Amino acid sequence: MYGNIVIISGPSGCGKSSLITEILREEKDVYFSLSSTTREIREGEAEGINYHYITKEQFKQEIGENAFLEWAEVHGNYYGTSLKPIYKALQEGKLVILDIDVQGHQIVKKKFSRILTSIFLTTPSKNELQKRLQNRGTDGEETIQRRLKNAIIEMDRIDEYDYLIVNDDFTIALQQLRTVIKTSRLKPTLEDIKHFVAQW
Ligand code: 5GP
Repeated sequence: MYGNIVIISGPSGCGKSSLITEILREEKDVYFSLSSTTREIREGEAEGINYHYITKEQFKQEIGENAFLEWAEVHGNYYGTSLKPIYKALQEGKLVILDIDVQGHQIVKKKFSRILTSIFLTTPSKNELQKRLQNRGTDGEETIQRRLKNAIIEMDRIDEYDYLIVNDDFTIALQQLRTVIKTSRLKPTLEDIKHFVAQW
């Protein structure tokens, strides 16, 4: 069987990375898409673990080579999802998890609607998000304000997603995410269905 795609979007600081880390520890046959970005590496991050950190010139070159499934400018930096590893993982029947923003979600939805499940993850309130960004201590006040503004714009597009998960209690949010991820694997492609019915 062909694989499936799960997109997880939501404001920076809402707990996406921690939740995804837990899921990757638990799930088998899963591929987490490592994005390329032109943003500066944050304290605690590592090349090849969180992102591929590349220059704007490299990024533009890869756009020219059609290397990205999708790319977008977020908070003044470029972020992109490499196409080849996604196709490979799907061919291998894996579940592909993408942590991308609302713009990227729209592009991938157009290309892979049949096998796509989308989740919007957020905090219970704007104040809570601000608190978490400040406690994280990795961004200056100006960056935090930019991220908050962007979060408000993104929140307006929750209706484009299949599921909404509010990360108030981490354990509950993880349980909800786990449930959606397990269910997402049951979406068949038309090819899968044809094949199954023919054999049946
Ligand atoms: P951060 O700088 O906090 O790691 O990420 C900022 C935003 O960029 C997040 O909303 C994240 O989901 C989004 N993002 C990360 N990688 C990609 C990507 O490859 N494509 C798109 N469209 N957005 C991405």
